[in-house]
Amino acid sequence: MVLILLGPPGVGKGTQAVRLADELGAAHVSTGDLLRAARREGTELGQRAQKYMDAGELVPDHLILDLVKEHLRGIDPGTHVLFDGFPRTTAQATGLESVLEASSRRVDRVVLFEATDETIVQRLSGRRSCPECGAVYNVYFSAPKSEGKCDRCGAALLQRSDDAPATVRKRLEVYREQTAPLIGFYESSGAAFDRIRADRPVDEVYADFLGAVGKG
Ligand code: ADP
Ligand code: AMP
Repeated sequence: MVLILLGPPGVGKGTQAVRLADELGAAHVSTGDLLRAARREGTELGQRAQKYMDAGELVPDHLILDLVKEHLRGIDPGTHVLFDGFPRTTAQATGLESVLEASSRRVDRVVLFEATDETIVQRLSGRRSCPECGAVYNVYFSAPKSEGKCDRCGAALLQRSDDAPATVRKRLEVYREQTAPLIGFYESSGAAFDRIRADRPVDEVYADFLGAVGKG
């Protein structure tokens, strides 16, 4: 199964994807995580992506498509893949189709997570992320057991600089202009399409998510 988790930044896609990937033994492919890893490692891609990420803008499509193509090479074609934060433009969606076609695959399902801007701004202001293992916490809703420290690996948690309110506003604007058109694209694509109200507790959202992917 190739599944896309679609929705605005901060709606909870990563939280849900990690959980489903654990349960299904699926590969979780988050382009945001891959870009942040490239930045930490100081690769050429990381350096080129930096100014866009810091401004809350999208990294150019060709860089993202090369990144995804390369990453998919390391994943067995029989493995379920959960895309999180990708695709974000129509050009990325059509590029993904070509990449998948090369291994006789297609996008099987798209799940759209929806919440109000107010919910999103609050969630992002409280988000804390582990730079080592990628675990995500929230100081309001799911705080780590020991303040500022990752429950899973003990690393010091970070607040993402692009979660500052002004950058969040920019990212929401970019979502509406460049990514929301993918809703219509996928509704008429032949892939199974579901909408989930994500402004509820994580377990309730997850129950709906499992139902949408036929595992409920
Ligand atoms: P995205 O991957 O869509 O950007 P995340 O999964 O990183 O979003 O979630 C953003 C923040 O909101 C994180 O701090 C996360 O812990 C928190 N969060 C995610 N889902 C929920 C939920 N259903 N209720 C409350 N907080 C949530
Ligand atoms: P995310 O972790 O998904 O919130 O992404 C953080 C930032 O990485 C975004 O604001 C973009 O600058 C960049 N990014 C992540 N995924 C993509 C993508 N598919 N296309 C373009 N830019 C991306």
